[in-house]
Amino acid sequence: MMPFTLQHAGSAQEAITVAAQGARYIAGGTTLVDLMREHVELPTRLVDINALPLEYIAVDGDELVIGALARMSDVAAHADVRRLHPVISESLLEGASPQLRNMASIGGNLRQRVRCPYFRMLDAACNKRTPDSGCAAIDGMHAGHAILGTSTHCFATHPSDLAVALVALDATVHVRGPQGERQFPVEDLYRLPGDTPHLEHTLQPGELIVEVRVPSLPYGGTARYLKVRDRASYEFALVSAAAALDVRDGVIRQARLACGGVGTRPWRMREAEALLQGRPATRATYEAAALATVAGATPMPGNRFKVPLLQRTVVRALELAGETR
Ligand code: SF4
Repeated sequence: MMPFTLQHAGSAQEAITVAAQGARYIAGGTTLVDLMREHVELPTRLVDINALPLEYIAVDGDELVIGALARMSDVAAHADVRRLHPVISESLLEGASPQLRNMASIGGNLRQRVRCPYFRMLDAACNKRTPDSGCAAIDGMHAGHAILGTSTHCFATHPSDLAVALVALDATVHVRGPQGERQFPVEDLYRLPGDTPHLEHTLQPGELIVEVRVPSLPYGGTARYLKVRDRASYEFALVSAAAALDVRDGVIRQARLACGGVGTRPWRMREAEALLQGRPATRATYEAAALATVAGATPMPGNRFKVPLLQRTVVRALELAGETR
């Protein structure tokens, strides 16, 4: 590991000031420390934010509020989270091993980096790690890569399960930085790779994720997270789906659907949601919506299987949401 300095911040303002000078935030460190050990990232200055009072989980009016330093395991087990938005709990439980869930923070989960194997191989070309160096995955292994939002410069899949659930729920992320505070949809935290895949998020220099707010969803109790992967635990999604349905008298009044494992960022399926609205809650309806989720997919030879797998996963997730009351 290369030498670095570590500063412990006693306040958010202190942390932001140090980060604005080029330091990297560290909380659980479950991604960053790995990348530093592997020399994929070599920050010379870290600012430890674990002392900041951002571990809360609370209900504020009709919003669920999750502090950026709340640990994945605490959020997954919290009674209000399980009652109001079980899809958040499910996505967290599916998202990492128990040891990682105990360490990893919500803010860090949203900022975790891609799992493309070439990103971590220093002798492989990777535009995300080293801009304009090429992309070894194009002619290499890409079974786990994205089929939506891809570019010729990068098609690595966004890795966070939690982000998929939050995007389906219209959650917002609240940040504080040198220019003050702002908030925006979690969906807008992530950039498409385009020709600058090394730029993954929309945070400004020094901006700190403070909390995530999840608005109430009357049918949030129906929301389910379904994750398909190569093995049963401690594995990233080949395909995942967060689905919620408001079904009354056999008719779908409203729907939410977002998918993971297929996009270069968490992928909200708005066309499919529109197709579901006003239709009977039947398998035929779910299959029509699933077909809409793969419109515009750009698979490579090694991940072509994700097109039918995405459709089957969406159908099953919608069935589960439709069965949940
Ligand atoms: Fe790097 Fe993206 Fe290509 Fe993977 S897909 S090697 S992360 S540029």
